Amino acid sequence: MSSGPAASRDDPDVDTDVVVLGGGSAGAVVAARLAERGVDVVLVEAGPDYGPLSGGRWPAEILGAAMLATTHDWGYGSGPVPGRAPWTFERARIIGGCSAHNGAIAAVGHRSDYDAWGLPLWRTDVLRPTFAAVLDRMRVRTYTRQEAGPFHARCLEAAVSAGWSVDTATFAGDLCDLDAGDGFGLESVNVADGVRWNTAFAYLDPVRSGTGLRILDETLVDRLDVAPSHVVVHARRGSAPVRVSAQTAVLAGGVYGTPAILQRSGIGDPADLRAAGIAPTHDLPAVGRHLHDHPMVNAGRALGPAMREWLDDAARAGFVPEEQTLGKARSSLSADGVYDLHVFPVCASTQTQLTQGRALVEVACMTPRSRGRLHVVGPDPLVAPRIDHGYLTDADGHDLAVLRDGLRLAETLLDQPALSGALVREGPRDLGDAALRRDVQHYYHPVGTARMGTDPATSVCDERGRVHGLERLVVADASVMPTVPRANTNIPTIVVAERIATMLSAGLTAPS
Ligand SMILES: Cc1cc2nc3c(=O)[nH]c(=O)nc-3n(C[C@H](O)[C@H](O)[C@H](O)COP(=O)(O)OP(=O)(O)OC[C@H]3O[C@@H](n4cnc5c(N)ncnc54)[C@H](O)[C@@H]3O)c2cc1C
Repeated sequence: MSSGPAASRDDPDVDTDVVVLGGGSAGAVVAARLAERGVDVVLVEAGPDYGPLSGGRWPAEILGAAMLATTHDWGYGSGPVPGRAPWTFERARIIGGCSAHNGAIAAVGHRSDYDAWGLPLWRTDVLRPTFAAVLDRMRVRTYTRQEAGPFHARCLEAAVSAGWSVDTATFAGDLCDLDAGDGFGLESVNVADGVRWNTAFAYLDPVRSGTGLRILDETLVDRLDVAPSHVVVHARRGSAPVRVSAQTAVLAGGVYGTPAILQRSGIGDPADLRAAGIAPTHDLPAVGRHLHDHPMVNAGRALGPAMREWLDDAARAGFVPEEQTLGKARSSLSADGVYDLHVFPVCASTQTQLTQGRALVEVACMTPRSRGRLHVVGPDPLVAPRIDHGYLTDADGHDLAVLRDGLRLAETLLDQPALSGALVREGPRDLGDAALRRDVQHYYHPVGTARMGTDPATSVCDERGRVHGLERLVVADASVMPTVPRANTNIPTIVVAERIATMLSAGLTAPS
């Protein structure tokens, strides 16, 4: 192993064994796991590192888990879309990545999701112990009935009267149980004492001293040069160039960041790269393709006076999370008999703009067939890539039909006596295709832009995360997932990072 100089974050030249590019949900895990196994690791992150939680430097908005944080965002979006408002594609630019600003809902999906990947190292039975360890490490727990705020307590009642299977004693296990089916109940979360428990706290803090980990924060990765014996990372801190030389580079820039770094390095579809003014270095057409995400729409009602009063009382008493309950349901299109919908109520305090004084029931298609793509428009790392999610573009209209079934369920929930008296009745929701296309949002769960597989024509890396034909490059974030699981993707992404870190360190760690 190389022993790099004891670099400060201002050093323009750094040598290391492994460089991890992106310190988000996955990158923090990979860097920590390698460091604790004795590997010399440099972690490069575009956003700030606020140090250990105990240092007290983390912004309150990022720590507080009652609602999504909105600062520290990359500001990605779709650009103009005919006939509707543009989409924003939120991604965090901070150590801990999206785990530092997300909804902190913990879910694992269904065993059929991982078995469908068709990769022996990712069969559900192989993954089970890692899921269990990650849930523990991320301090996942389930809201109790006593913690349910006034809106969500009524949602539980409404689900019972709507005929949903509601078992609040075991539902927690359900959301984090790879074998569980549909039902409605309290959510599981990675929240500890009101703090969103991100991967910087869970994984980096224990290895910040006494290991070979160095963190270069506020350092933007531009591109890579891949040589037979090493990889050189070209980055910049402000306007100052930074160069990191490593035996192995692990890409963990997330589903938008990772393919963009690959493409700027000339790795991708040669025709697309040339069109962007980038000289191709390695032909891999799947880079940036197969972008796969859960499309989402909602039903809603304005808050009546009674509900406003209950919410204001609860806000004065303390913590009122906007999300606490969730239903998993089967649409009429469920092909495998497993749930294909998440139906989850959202209601923030009346003081926030987030739900604009409304109670919403969000509906997400968890088995979408539509795919999109991402590509850089030029070599400049300061220019955002073009992101086209292709929401609701599948030829058979599957995704539209699943969402329409889900909206009917959401309306039924809102019409139950436990809720309807405290909400303002509105006319029937337009369930037509045009209305759904106009309204569709997303559930923040993109994957697939550097997906694993055996065929270099349709995938970017092998099942160990090694980029086809360039084994010194490894991808270890949400972008390797071949298809999106029926889950919020933070816990599955951490499982991906744990597994790839284990495979990588098996080949890297020298005997002591
Ligand atoms: C608003 C929101 C809410 C969500 N809510 C939930 C939820 O409740 N539950 C759940 O399970 N999932 C949720 N998710 C999804 C989940 O957080 C993501 O799937 C997961 O965090 C992805 O992890 P990642 O490591 O692949 O990417 P990220 O966490 O995005 O990490 C990528 C990191 O790389 C850095 N980076 C990127 N490009 C560069 C570059 N060129 N140079 C240097 N650094 C770079 C980024 O700054 C970032 O820190 C949510 C996501 C969002 C955005």
